[in-house]
Amino acid sequence: MQHNLFSSDKFSFFSLGSGSCGNCYYLGNSHYGMLIDAGLGPRIIKKRLGDHGIDFSSIYALLVTHDHYDHIKSAGYLSEKLNIPVYATEKVHRGIRNCPLVKNTINGATKRIIEKGESFQIEDFRITAFDVPHDSSDNAGYFFEFGNHKLTLATDIGAITDDVAYYAGKANHLVIESNYDEEMLLNGRYPYFLKQRISNGTGHLSNRQTAEFLANNCSPHLRNIWLCHLSGDNNSPDLAYETVKNELVGKGIEVGVNINLGVFRRNVLSSKIEF
Ligand SMILES: [Zn+2]
Ligand SMILES: [Zn+2]
Repeated sequence: MQHNLFSSDKFSFFSLGSGSCGNCYYLGNSHYGMLIDAGLGPRIIKKRLGDHGIDFSSIYALLVTHDHYDHIKSAGYLSEKLNIPVYATEKVHRGIRNCPLVKNTINGATKRIIEKGESFQIEDFRITAFDVPHDSSDNAGYFFEFGNHKLTLATDIGAITDDVAYYAGKANHLVIESNYDEEMLLNGRYPYFLKQRISNGTGHLSNRQTAEFLANNCSPHLRNIWLCHLSGDNNSPDLAYETVKNELVGKGIEVGVNINLGVFRRNVLSSKIEF
């Protein structure tokens, strides 16, 4: 009967930081949870988890999206020092191993290799990784099923593919990238090659792309949207929020009535969202 006890449990989700300054998210119930990405230092992760009453000892897993440093900074530490299992595709594991900036290694006992499209279970959470186009070794979005909830997290998305749309369409709770404002990027101080890298289909999603996707694909069972991985140079929380909100309103979707819309800030612990 333990399963039913946990299934009726309260679930919580929050961001410990989001963007090129470091990405880390928490999803759990009142007994245990997991981190998605570990792009902040161990001390900051510990402090921010603690601010929401969570100890490292209740972290049962780290799921890694991809091997860019802003997502893997503490992956080796969590494995080697804390013995936390690290879930990633084989290519991402290889990328982490080859990243000279990542201190510590992921030891054999904690290395968990996942395949996209093949669901796996961490206690009461059923998880499916899916393909996300990005200029890393590989990139996975994650689809979580727990209790009566379905949460999809997709970050660092070069383009909305059928896979991304499919898993976003199944979600009640959706975390999706809204990286940059197109005009700010175009007129900003970044060199041409970097502007290209960001916007060429294997970089990041703009506010407009995310807004149009959401407005055109908003399913009736989607309750919460959080925009993540905002650029510090080419975006602002207000701009991302307003762009997406206006597009949704244009389709008759009232933010705060039909759907909740939030923005995860860079290097700031978000409030604890409970459902
Ligand atoms: Zn990133
Ligand atoms: Zn990335």
